[in-house]
Amino acid sequence: MKQDTLITHSGRTSPYFAQSVNPPVYRCSTVTFPSMAAMAEAQADHLNAFYYGRIGTPTTHAFEEAVAAVEGGERCIAVPSGLAAIAGTLSALLKSGDHVLVSDSVYGPTRTFCQDVLAKNGVQVDYFHPLLAENIEVLFKPNTKVVFCETPGSLTFEMQDIPAIAKVAHAKGAIVVADCTWASPIFYRPFEMGVDVSVLAATKYIVGHSDAMLGTITTSEELYPVIKSSVVKFGYSVGSEEAYLGLRGLRSIVPRMKQHQESALKVARWLQTRDEVARVLHPGLPEDPGHELFKRDFLGSSGLFGVILEPYPEEALIPMIDGLKLFSLGFSWGGYESLITYTTPGIVRNTVLWNADGPTLRLHIGLEDPDDLIADLEAGFERLNAFGG
Ligand SMILES: *Cc1c(COP(=O)(O)O)cnc(C)c1O
Repeated sequence: MKQDTLITHSGRTSPYFAQSVNPPVYRCSTVTFPSMAAMAEAQADHLNAFYYGRIGTPTTHAFEEAVAAVEGGERCIAVPSGLAAIAGTLSALLKSGDHVLVSDSVYGPTRTFCQDVLAKNGVQVDYFHPLLAENIEVLFKPNTKVVFCETPGSLTFEMQDIPAIAKVAHAKGAIVVADCTWASPIFYRPFEMGVDVSVLAATKYIVGHSDAMLGTITTSEELYPVIKSSVVKFGYSVGSEEAYLGLRGLRSIVPRMKQHQESALKVARWLQTRDEVARVLHPGLPEDPGHELFKRDFLGSSGLFGVILEPYPEEALIPMIDGLKLFSLGFSWGGYESLITYTTPGIVRNTVLWNADGPTLRLHIGLEDPDDLIADLEAGFERLNAFGG
């Protein structure tokens, strides 16, 4: 079946749903069993069964089934946030004495987890330059167990050659984990790129409405019990309400992604024409250094990109941003609404420094009319230029 059909039909056949189109929200801690034998049977299969609310409910199972189908993986594990997907996967696959290679352009809290939890517990963490591709080979050690990628990288939007990295990693016996949140499963097919475990902040485009926290870990049948049992040991638990919102969001993700893509490209191209802008960081644009990889590996782009401004003083951004009417200031992204943030990608690099003379902004283009968004930004640039004058 094609992806659109899977998105519409996956996760709808559970006998628990009594023919309703959408799954009921199972509010459940205790599950009761009709007999000792039935209880023992559920316990033996507790990573899959409806056994205890913390481990999963028919609602969370439906969400997992749909995400696994849509991503093209075999099994999915729902977790309470995108960060829990990253932390849960890395904790399951690494132990003291192991070595992990992490992209230097990775999402900030991923880096914090690696430093403050993994490294503290005896895992060796090294960062690789996101543009290394097959040259990553020189960084492998005999104890390298995992390579953690994120493409394009948070804040800088640098593209990674994941097929090349995966080829090296697999030859060395390492597992490739990738944070594929930016493009969503609609525009990036991680398992066709050699990824072994795909982690998503479902909070972003899957939920799609900025109203729930949710993460997913999608992987093979083989790695499923390794990661799921670890997640269960930590007590990560997804509420059925959140899983319901994730599944509901997923049903409309295709038209939303197409609109985010089209509107973001329109705003990005307009920004490229502006004197205030030094560079637009968007791999979907032909001028972007990552565009060749983007064309090869991606089916489309999302609503999130960066902008490096000409060297304006930081204070000049205050009237520009505070006065915006349609862009809200806020973290996260992937909802229906437009957002803007001031970012500092340069301060957290371990490999080659990221240099930009001017301030960097990150924009999430929502589902508003892009012409209205452009007018809002244009008025913002007038305030930027008027600053101090
Ligand atoms: C937001 C985000 C996460 C974390 O997701 P939460 O649900 O907020 O924990 C992870 N990776 C990327 C790339 C993100 O943008």
